[in-house]
Amino acid sequence: MTYGMRQSKLFTKTRKEIPADEVSKNAELLIRGGFIHKEMAGVYTYLPLGLKVLKKIENIIREEMNAIGGQEMIMTALQKKEVWEKNGRWSDDVVDVWFKTKLKDNTELGLGFTHDEQLVNLLTEYISSYNDLPIYPYQIQTKFRNELRAKSGIMRGREFVMKDLYSFDKTEEDQDRFYEEIKKAYMKVYTRCGIGHRTYITFASGGTFSQYSHEFQTLADAGEDNIYVAEDKGIAINEEVLNDKVLKELGIDRKDLVLKKSVEVGNIFKQGTKYTDPFGMAFTDENGDKRSVYMGGYGIGVTRLMGTVVEVLSDDKGIIWPEEIAPFRVHLLSLGEDEIVLSEAKKVYETLLENGIEVFFDDRIGLSAGEKFADSDLIGIPYRAVVSARSMKEGGIEIKKRTEEKGQVISESELIELLKKDK
Ligand code: ATP
Ligand code: MG
Repeated sequence: MTYGMRQSKLFTKTRKEIPADEVSKNAELLIRGGFIHKEMAGVYTYLPLGLKVLKKIENIIREEMNAIGGQEMIMTALQKKEVWEKNGRWSDDVVDVWFKTKLKDNTELGLGFTHDEQLVNLLTEYISSYNDLPIYPYQIQTKFRNELRAKSGIMRGREFVMKDLYSFDKTEEDQDRFYEEIKKAYMKVYTRCGIGHRTYITFASGGTFSQYSHEFQTLADAGEDNIYVAEDKGIAINEEVLNDKVLKELGIDRKDLVLKKSVEVGNIFKQGTKYTDPFGMAFTDENGDKRSVYMGGYGIGVTRLMGTVVEVLSDDKGIIWPEEIAPFRVHLLSLGEDEIVLSEAKKVYETLLENGIEVFFDDRIGLSAGEKFADSDLIGIPYRAVVSARSMKEGGIEIKKRTEEKGQVISESELIELLKKDK
């Protein structure tokens, strides 16, 4: 359903001030623009504008995961101690980010920082035969992590949204095939979110089963990771795994690599039978033999992705949202106190909605043109359409892209045509 919103009715306002302890650019712009509210370090509320962006990102991920056979579900945040003990990950010495709590009767519980163990435990009730495989369940859900440092805005939350998909395959070859497929699906997600051109599939440590895992690293000054990039080859290596052996294997010369700061917006792991064996997850094959299940884990930091977009796609005036995840397609502004202008702008608003174009309508009165333009640049909707006494005299509406300096006056029908194009 097409969605319009009047700025005069929106309870959030743009701000000049940000919390004194906020040091990250993404949080600063998102707070000033009215997308998020800071509750405490690493903990943010998604306000109406911010939720619109978050939902669009989630939907892109959902579409790409469904396209490769993903089945969406939602697991619980509350986690049972016994399930995590089975695989040795309940201990705080092993996992240092647990948030733990207790029931009234003192039963210990954890708040899910990830869901591998819970899912494998659950699936042992559903998987027993070769007919039950492969499956690719996933969820888009809030994770809780007691991160030591949370200074990167929504790029490192103590409470954050993650997409986690898990693959369960009959053979190593099937697992490898899916692994390559999801790599492509991930790149589609980052491209649709506007950061594909600076996101590298990066060799990293941690694959239990294979030698490497892969991280999706987006180049950004505010990144917490360091990667070595061979730009012409399109290859990147996390500094953690850079050594002579790796260079030789990848056929790369050390001198062709450039050190860059980056953000890990996703990662993929082949886990083999590391989780499935301890939980006794197995299947009977066509010959009636019992066999282990091959598992993989695939994460995308959904809120981190949103923060990364803001870090890399903004200028000194504010955010520049890519088309597919912008809260609205066009920001319509009416300028001045003139009744005729306001009623013309309202008419344009209605026409845009009737034509299925998502529009944010700055119908506020008592603000200068300068104030409205500054707000519009800060909020960063891809197109800005202005109705003013001047634009009306020139025969229409002044339209410009967020990235353009100057606009041009066009008629209402031309405006509709333009905004309907390349969606
Ligand atoms: P990092 O090294 O940045 O802490 P991680 O290796 O702990 O990440 P995973 O546990 O594999 O990450 O989580 C999957 C994805 O979730 C990561 O690739 C990242 O995009 C995102 N993510 C991890 N921790 C956070 C966090 N605290 N806030 C926001 N997103 C996160
Ligand atoms: Mg971590």
